[in-house]
Amino acid sequence: MPPPKIAQVVVDLPLESSFDYAIGATFQDKIAIGKRVKVLFNRRETVGVVVGFKDKSRFFKLNPIIDILDTNPSVSSEILKLCEQLSDYYGCSQGEAIFSYLPNALRKSQRVDIPAVSFGDTKDFSQEPKCFLLHDVTLQKSWEFIFEKTKKVLEAGKSAVFLMPSVEFIEQMELKIKEVFHVPIFILDKKLTPKQELESWLEIKKGTPCIVLGTLSAVFAPMPHLGLIVIYEEENMVYKQEQTPFLRMQKVAEFRFQIEGAQVIFSSVCPSIETYQYAKEKKWEMIRFFPEKYSAFQLIDMSNYKSQKATFLSFPLQNLIYQSLEQNKRIVLVMNRKGFTTTTRCSCGFIMRCSRCDVSMTYRYAKKKLVCRHCGEEQELPKMCPSCKAAYLHSSGGGIEKLESEVARVYPQAKVGRYDRDSERFPQESNIIIATQAITKMQSSVVFDVIALIDFDAQLNRFDFRCANKLFSLLVLLRQMAKEKLLVQTTLRNEYVLHNLEKMDFEGFYKKELMLRKELGFPPSKHLLSMMVRGKNEDFVFEQTKKIYDLLKIEASSSIDISDPHPDVVPKLRDKYRFTIVLKSKSAKNNLKLAKKALNCFKRRKDLVVTINVDP
Ligand SMILES: [Zn+2]
Ligand SMILES: [Zn+2]
Repeated sequence: MPPPKIAQVVVDLPLESSFDYAIGATFQDKIAIGKRVKVLFNRRETVGVVVGFKDKSRFFKLNPIIDILDTNPSVSSEILKLCEQLSDYYGCSQGEAIFSYLPNALRKSQRVDIPAVSFGDTKDFSQEPKCFLLHDVTLQKSWEFIFEKTKKVLEAGKSAVFLMPSVEFIEQMELKIKEVFHVPIFILDKKLTPKQELESWLEIKKGTPCIVLGTLSAVFAPMPHLGLIVIYEEENMVYKQEQTPFLRMQKVAEFRFQIEGAQVIFSSVCPSIETYQYAKEKKWEMIRFFPEKYSAFQLIDMSNYKSQKATFLSFPLQNLIYQSLEQNKRIVLVMNRKGFTTTTRCSCGFIMRCSRCDVSMTYRYAKKKLVCRHCGEEQELPKMCPSCKAAYLHSSGGGIEKLESEVARVYPQAKVGRYDRDSERFPQESNIIIATQAITKMQSSVVFDVIALIDFDAQLNRFDFRCANKLFSLLVLLRQMAKEKLLVQTTLRNEYVLHNLEKMDFEGFYKKELMLRKELGFPPSKHLLSMMVRGKNEDFVFEQTKKIYDLLKIEASSSIDISDPHPDVVPKLRDKYRFTIVLKSKSAKNNLKLAKKALNCFKRRKDLVVTINVDP
C-alpha cells in the first residue's frame, strides 16, 4: 500500500466536517488513525485527531501536519465508532465527542507515550452480552449480582467500569471492591490532577484486567477489553451532562455494549421512567430485589395545622422528634433547599437579585452573605434598601439553615447538625440532622431511625416535568434508609406519588406517570430537543431565536411539534440571556435532522452561542 498523503483531522469545535492536512514525508510511516496531531487551525496551533486518510482533497494547497503527538493511537477504532454514534445521536461534532473522551492532559498539545495494547488471553463470554436493569429496593442484593458478573468478566481477562453518582459512593465502593477482588483499581473523578488522571488513563489503556470507579466521564474509560459497565443509582440526574454535548451516560454505556460487546447493568432503587420503559421495549433482563418488609410510612396533612403556618414542624412531627430524642434515636429532617432564606425584599418592592443572573439571592447564615444559587456570586446584606433607602429589609422563603435554627430553638437539649452537598463531613454525633437530599449519599454508611420530608409540596411543584418521578425515587430511597419510619408533611395528600409510595406500588406509579407524560408529550413517550440561544443583548438574542424558529417552521413536518421561542428556565445566567425552542416528536433522529437543517441556513453571529440538547 502506498503511504497516505492526506490526513482527515477533527478538532474540538462544533464543526461537523473533518479537515484535510498534508502528511509530510517524515511522518508518513508514523501517522495512524486515532493518533493526536498538532495542526494549524484558523492560524492557531491546535490539537486534532486523525480520523481517516484520502488521496485527493478539493483544496489546492493544504497545511501540513506539524507534529504527531502520540506513539500509539490514543483513540481506538471502537472509540472512534462510539464517537460517531454519539455525534449522530446528540448532534455534537465527532471532534467534540472525541475530546470528551480524551483526558485533560491529552487535550493539550503535548507529546505522550501511549502504550501499545496488549492482546492478552481474553476469552469470549459463554453467553451473549446482555443489558440488565436491576430494580433493587434492598440497596444490597444488587451488589451480590454485580460482583458475580464482575468476577466472570475478570476471569475472562476483561475489565469493568462502575459509575457512581458521587465521590462519597466511590470511596465506600473502593473499600468493598478491595475486599473482594485482587486486580488493579483505578479511580477517575474530578478530584484528580491532570497528571494523575493521565497516569491512570494510560495504565487502564494497557489492557490488563482492572476495575475502574468513577463519576460521569469514567464511562469513557479506555480499556481495550471492556467486559462490563455498571451504572449505580441510574435514576440520578448527575449522569446527564449539564453542558454541551449534553451526553447521557446511560446512552454512552449502551453504545459501548453494541460496539464492544460489553455487558451493561443499570441499578436503581427506583429506575427513572425513561430507563424503565426503554428496558421493557428493548427486552432487557429486568431483575427485582424487594425487601420482605418496609419501614412504616406516615403522612401528615398540613392543612390540619394552618395555625402553625410560621413553622416548618407540625405538631405530630414535633412529638415524634421529642420521642426520638428520649429514646436516643437519630432523626433526619430533609428539605431540598439550601441557605437561610431565599428572598430578601423591601416594602417598596425592591428585591435583592444577582447582578449577573437576575434571580433573587439566597441568604447564607454561616457566611452572613447573600449568594446566587446559579453562579455563586456573593454580596453583603445591605444595611438599607438600595432603592428607597428604607432601613428594614425582610426575608422570606426558608431553607435548611432556617430550619436548623428553628430546630435548635425548639430542642435546646438536642445536638443538631446540618448536611448538604458542601458539607465536608457527616455530623456523626448529632441526633437531629437537617439535610438536603445529599443525605442519600450516606445510605450504606450510617443508620437512620426516622426520616421526615419537610417540603414535599415545594418539590412537587417545581418547573420540571420529571419532578414527580424524582420525588418518588427520593422517597422510596428515604423510606428504605429509615429503619423505623418515613414521615411526609404535605397539603397534597391525594397525589399519586404518595398513594403509590404508601403501598410501594411501583407498577402503579409507572403506569400513572407514563399516562401523564404521554398526555403532555414528554419522554419517554416523545423525544425532546431543545435549542438554546445565548448572548449578552436580550433583544438581539430573542430576535435571533425567532429567526431560527422561522427557519424551523419552513422545514418542519407535521410530526414535529415546535414550541414558540421562550425564555429558558434560567432566563439569564452569568450576564447572558437565554432563549429556548423545544422540538417534540416520536423520533430523536427527526428532531435532530430538522434542527440541523435550520442551523445550516442560519447565519451564526460570533457573539451568539447556539446549543442543542437531546433528551433523553
Ligand atoms: Zn448569579
Ligand atoms: Zn425599598
